[in-house]
Amino acid sequence: MRIGQGFDVHAFGEGDHVMLGGVRVPHGQGVLAHSDGDVVLHALCDALLGALALGDIGKHFPPSDETWRGADSRVFVREVAAMLAARGYTLGNADITVICEAPKVGPHAAAMRTLIAGDLGVDVDRISIKATTTETLGFTGRREGIAALATVLVLRA
Ligand code: MG
Repeated sequence: MRIGQGFDVHAFGEGDHVMLGGVRVPHGQGVLAHSDGDVVLHALCDALLGALALGDIGKHFPPSDETWRGADSRVFVREVAAMLAARGYTLGNADITVICEAPKVGPHAAAMRTLIAGDLGVDVDRISIKATTTETLGFTGRREGIAALATVLVLRA
């Protein structure tokens, strides 16, 4: 088995929703990003790539590549899942924490888990989505942006 961790941040900007775990979550702001700015899926991809020492999301899906402008980050997850499978690995479990004051993540966690599990081809009980605030401290506390942490265990199939 191998372990991986990922972290991602996007600043809030103009908009009326944020993408989190593939789910469109209504919010008074959007995020500034080249892709859809889904911090949950970006942290998850970095954790999966990290587990196999395959570099990071920026290496595989560079912001300089126009292909990925406005990209649905679920595409990244599916591509990374294929990289894992090609190397004989499957996901053991993923534990993801979203860090923000708003929007509320809890009401959308079940939908995120379902989408992520589907894209990775695993049972939903292998995917955990949690959320925390930073008690109004720091950039997330000031509602300037949103962050996510992901930890994964991958198993040789
Ligand atoms: Mg990102």
